[in-house]
Amino acid sequence: MAKILNQFLKDNLNELKEQGLYNEIDPVEGPNGATIKIGGKEMINLSSNNYLGLATNDHLKEIAKKAIDHYGVGAGAVRTINGTLDLHVKLEDKLAEFKGTEAAIAFQSGFNCNMAAISAVMDKNDAILSDELNHASIIDGCRLSRAKVIRFNHSDMEDLRAKAKEATESGQYNKVMVITDGVFSMDGDVAKLPEIVEIAKEFDLITYVDDAHGSGVMGKGAGTVKHFGLAKEVDFQMGTLSKAIGVVGGYVAGTQDLIDWLKVRSRPFLFSTSLTPGDTAAITEALQMLIDSTELHDKLWENGDYLKAGLKKLGFNIGDSATPITPCILGDEKLTQQFSKRLSEEGVYAKSIVFPTVPRGTGRVRNMPTAAHSKEMLDEALTVYEKVGKELKIIQ
Ligand SMILES: *Cc1c(COP(=O)(O)O)cnc(C)c1O
Repeated sequence: MAKILNQFLKDNLNELKEQGLYNEIDPVEGPNGATIKIGGKEMINLSSNNYLGLATNDHLKEIAKKAIDHYGVGAGAVRTINGTLDLHVKLEDKLAEFKGTEAAIAFQSGFNCNMAAISAVMDKNDAILSDELNHASIIDGCRLSRAKVIRFNHSDMEDLRAKAKEATESGQYNKVMVITDGVFSMDGDVAKLPEIVEIAKEFDLITYVDDAHGSGVMGKGAGTVKHFGLAKEVDFQMGTLSKAIGVVGGYVAGTQDLIDWLKVRSRPFLFSTSLTPGDTAAITEALQMLIDSTELHDKLWENGDYLKAGLKKLGFNIGDSATPITPCILGDEKLTQQFSKRLSEEGVYAKSIVFPTVPRGTGRVRNMPTAAHSKEMLDEALTVYEKVGKELKIIQ
């Protein structure tokens, strides 16, 4: 190894470890379901994004196996050579149906979808107005485009309007985009899309909504844009297939022209092998399940509301979540980590989330109830929360 690299790695790893910022990863020894097995220990799992339980759904497992039997385990090429299987076309048609748009394009992940789609449309002569709490993949996608990034205060519509006015009136930019998460993953609050769309209309901004945590959850399943009835107003409805949909991948839904352009200009579509057959078939079926029935969606909300009410009653600060995402805000980073560790010792897996993922002094344990949890599991989790909360003097 180059001496300079060796030194760089040793110095930086040691520094992280000394500061307690080095993340130790616990391998999961089975499905990431309502319960989870780590280190031989079975725990109630409140940390997955498997909102609807679809990642571990038996019917979807069968569908994936059948697709593997017919097509194999890999797609064999990038989409633009001969890696577009009929399965991918079906998936994209289903996505457009689900989202209520003319067309859709699928990517290998939500992360690379943001890298792909933003930079396919925006360049160094453009500007992007970006909510300060937007996801890392949006931040990286914006950087890659080389457009001027103008951050606005979180969900602050006056700040957005002022910055949109300034950017458009300056005459410095060819195009201006506004980009936001639909649901913010650390607090569970929802973007003010009706106001964002109104401001976008006033200043002719391109609108881009990343609905990674909204798809399957908001709008009876179809997402935050649908929830507000704005499918025709939002230019990019971006989302992931890895959270509520339970598999892996990302997508953009929009007009036929937008999708046609992304198919010739988004680099992961042209230069990275397409989604595997098993994944693609399972995703398409998962979308069909969500189109056919809101049962899983309804159960998710019922469980989310139940857990929230229980934690609130115990006296925990659960912030302003408007979705099933249920943060338990403790503040101090060390206390948050200690709390999470004690929860897991008592059989509840809920990860601590601290700076830099959230601002300093707002450390939290984030709970992700899903449709797959039973009332008994949630009751048991609440019992453990009460015990550990009293022990660490967080609640009375
Ligand atoms: C998780 C997430 C992504 C990335 O999606 P993956 O499919 O996991 O790559 C993108 N945007 C937001 C807002 C997310 O929460």
